[in-house]
Amino acid sequence: MTRASAANTERYLQEADRFGAHNYHPLPVVIERAEGVWVWDVDGNKFLDMLSAYSALNQGHRHPAILAAARDQMDKLTLTSRAFHNDQMGAFLRELCEATGYEKALPMNTGAEAVETSIKMVRKWGYKVKGVAEGRAEIIVCENNFHGRTTTIVGFSSEHQYRDGFGPFTPGFRLIPYDDIDALRAAINENTVGFLVEPLQGEGGVVVPAEGYLRQAAQVCRENRVAFMADEIQTGLGRTGKLFCCDWEDVRPDVLTVGKALGGGVYPVSATIADAEFMDVFSPGDHGSTFGGNPLGAAIGRASLRVILDENLSERSNELGNWFMEGLRAIDSPHVEEVRGKGLMIGVVIKESSGTARPFCEALEQRGILAKETHSQVIRFAPPLVIGKDVLEDALQEIGAVLSA
Ligand SMILES: *Cc1c(COP(=O)(O)O)cnc(C)c1O
Repeated sequence: MTRASAANTERYLQEADRFGAHNYHPLPVVIERAEGVWVWDVDGNKFLDMLSAYSALNQGHRHPAILAAARDQMDKLTLTSRAFHNDQMGAFLRELCEATGYEKALPMNTGAEAVETSIKMVRKWGYKVKGVAEGRAEIIVCENNFHGRTTTIVGFSSEHQYRDGFGPFTPGFRLIPYDDIDALRAAINENTVGFLVEPLQGEGGVVVPAEGYLRQAAQVCRENRVAFMADEIQTGLGRTGKLFCCDWEDVRPDVLTVGKALGGGVYPVSATIADAEFMDVFSPGDHGSTFGGNPLGAAIGRASLRVILDENLSERSNELGNWFMEGLRAIDSPHVEEVRGKGLMIGVVIKESSGTARPFCEALEQRGILAKETHSQVIRFAPPLVIGKDVLEDALQEIGAVLSA
């Protein structure tokens, strides 16, 4: 698995550099084709995708059942707007509610929109149901969070770069340390309406909170009538070895955001999920999206969810994840500080003394493995959940060669 040629790649890189905004720092690989866990670049090199578009590809690239649903729907109806009904949205929301055990769901497109939806919903619930004084609602968020890139969301990021130059920001958010129950207790006051948290911080560097944190946090929220808002956009739909990461602690959030793999790597589909107590605060005109709940997205969402459930991808993620993590820990490396994660959401932390994670990702790319660093020191391994054990075994060899060098 070594990279043979790069003859065409340079031209594509120059084009993107010349005509695109420089808001990303991708690895210099230009992909033109994919299937399952594999991608091919414009020079015919084959790579194993171990990022899965940040878990938007849990079902693998171009899953046949999801493509078939998309094609069928494209031949019938693609968009109505919410000014009219369509025959796919209701079934999509019902199936989503049945799979998650909630009363209602509100469809959007991107993850950030789902988070924005839950913020609006919980604020309005705070005023209309909990009785918080107008304009005073507060939502508690965690340091090192990642919930998307809108101006409201980056306003409560603790990452300097995410905010730098983009203010002024939306007030009403209170930042506390992650994985700190006492800090949560101390931050709650009569204006607190919600606690927004990732059950495992993905972009923050695959940070796994202490066992019991989510259960205790949910308990504190319940005692104070604060909405427990779980952002499972990256951790959900099988990624961490359960359908949702909160399931590891038998926690049922009041509000759940899902996205990424809900679109099966084909189309952006997201949703905010909650019981009627929360969802019913919305009246016609309060909130919306031209594309949210469109029939093409709904049909794709239905198929994407069905694949996760029918192919038992959560169990698969758990079994393969445990085995793979053990393999990574067994690598004799002078560079690795820690291997951590849940299911197939795994971070390998590189020691500061060995430099950043980036050169390791570049070395992996040369060996046919696509992984991306997050937070300078962490290599994230999150392959599609349909990956075979034999493929993971080969990958482990290549990773071992890079990490032990
Ligand atoms: C990716 C992500 C988002 C944002 O999703 P987009 O589709 O990029 O807007 C929000 N929260 C978490 C936890 C994510 O991983």
